[in-house]
Amino acid sequence: MMSDLRDLYQELILDHGRNPRNFHTMEEPRDASVGFNPLCGDKLELFVRFDGDEVRDVSFVGSGCAISMASASLLTESIRRKSRRESLAFLYEFIDWMTGSDAVPPEHFGKLSALGGVRDFPVRIKCATLAWRTLEALLTGKADEVTTE
Ligand code: ZN
Repeated sequence: MMSDLRDLYQELILDHGRNPRNFHTMEEPRDASVGFNPLCGDKLELFVRFDGDEVRDVSFVGSGCAISMASASLLTESIRRKSRRESLAFLYEFIDWMTGSDAVPPEHFGKLSALGGVRDFPVRIKCATLAWRTLEALLTGKADEVTTE
């Protein structure tokens, strides 16, 4: 049963890695931020359009491994309709979880819980968190370009 579930999760990651959702640039008005993971060569640019304080639309472009692309793809489906504050809270929960915290159960992350297997592979964690670090920079305005190193 567990191995079947794991297969299913991997299928979801491969699907989003091969066919990332919301994979396109975005016209103004929008905020944008660039992220780079030199360890793996993953690079992406994230776009968010706000409606007041609410995330109205999210998209990205870039290239990288299946995990980085799947994580970015799932991100675009995860924060739509959230406020800036809710998005930040969610991304910190996700990064904490990816880096080993069990404070929040995996179900909390919906489809993103498919990335749980990555927690066993420390060198790949930066692939899974790149899009989220990039979102953090976009939301906090701390940097236009993020690097995981
Ligand atoms: Zn990668």
